Amino acid sequence: MTYWKHYHIPTSIDEALSLLARYNGQARVVGGGTDLILEMQQGHRPPVEALIDVTRIDRLNRIDEAGGYLVIGAGVTHTQIVNDERMVRHGTCLVESCGVIGGPQVRNVGTLAGNVAHALPAGDGTISLLALGGEVQVASAEGLSWQSMAEIFVGPGRSTIDPTRAMIARLRFQSTGPGEGSAFRRVMRPQGVALPIIGMAARLKVKTGAITSARITIGPAGPTPFVARQTMTFLTGKPATPDMFAAAAEVALAEVHLRASHHRATAEYRAEMIRVQLPKTLARATERAITGQAVPEGVEI
Ligand SMILES: Cc1cc2nc3c(=O)[nH]c(=O)nc-3n(C[C@H](O)[C@H](O)[C@H](O)COP(=O)(O)OP(=O)(O)OC[C@H]3O[C@@H](n4cnc5c(N)ncnc54)[C@H](O)[C@@H]3O)c2cc1C
Repeated sequence: MTYWKHYHIPTSIDEALSLLARYNGQARVVGGGTDLILEMQQGHRPPVEALIDVTRIDRLNRIDEAGGYLVIGAGVTHTQIVNDERMVRHGTCLVESCGVIGGPQVRNVGTLAGNVAHALPAGDGTISLLALGGEVQVASAEGLSWQSMAEIFVGPGRSTIDPTRAMIARLRFQSTGPGEGSAFRRVMRPQGVALPIIGMAARLKVKTGAITSARITIGPAGPTPFVARQTMTFLTGKPATPDMFAAAAEVALAEVHLRASHHRATAEYRAEMIRVQLPKTLARATERAITGQAVPEGVEI
């Protein structure tokens, strides 16, 4: 079985877009291919005329700092993110999530842009970038535009970005500053299928013991990567204490939509994991916000 006839490696965004235009919907953007090729092999995606590999585009395989943002090119792999000191300090939760994606082989070629473009509610990199307030730069025939990441997801595996016509060029988030910290935690099945039961991330700003701003994401907890808005509102202005974090978990449980999954866990077990893990995630983000120290945990090298 042939899944594609031509494989192009453009070196500029313009070249990638003209290739997509030339194939008129019959070509598809590929990053590391760790999701896409498997999906094609398993019959979940149709074969295409061409794959357009966007990992060698000039200036898109690096992480830059610009105007208070950390900017991640489409070709940046999970391994690059884990090994970047600026990410460790100013986007700790993203390092913690990229550091547990697959094994080293997957992290060495899989990209954060591919994780986001795949639009799965449980995408680990997606959950953390969303908690950081991530934005997506879309390159299309209309030009380049930054969009809030929270607005691109429309359903499981579906986003407003059509990889047969457009591409994610860059991702970015505002670096965490003084008084801010972030954390990510994930619960997996101990054996067998490597599917996450539940993952969550938080970005908190803490001043004199109180939370002044909160962003919290959980997944899978609905058809799209889930922003726990009611929990965020509840926590803002509250003292950063264990009791408050436990109360926040109850608010989160009231707003998430948890499903039983044959391969993952029952809805009840997932709820219990939110009750246990969300307070720990919030406590870790708080500690980092207060101490200014960020040592990522659980990251596999
Ligand atoms: C063994 C294994 C374990 C894994 N474990 C995890 C895990 O623990 N957690 C997790 O979240 N994921 C996991 N994954 C999934 C996958 O590795 C990640 O989602 C990865 O980040 C995908 O990136 P990629 O560059 O390989 O995407 P690709 O496979 O190249 O592409 C994925 C999708 O995004 C589109 N796309 C890619 N790049 C762009 C772009 N720049 N613009 C627009 N569209 C684009 C493609 O057309 C395709 O639809 C695993 C995969 C494997 C094979």
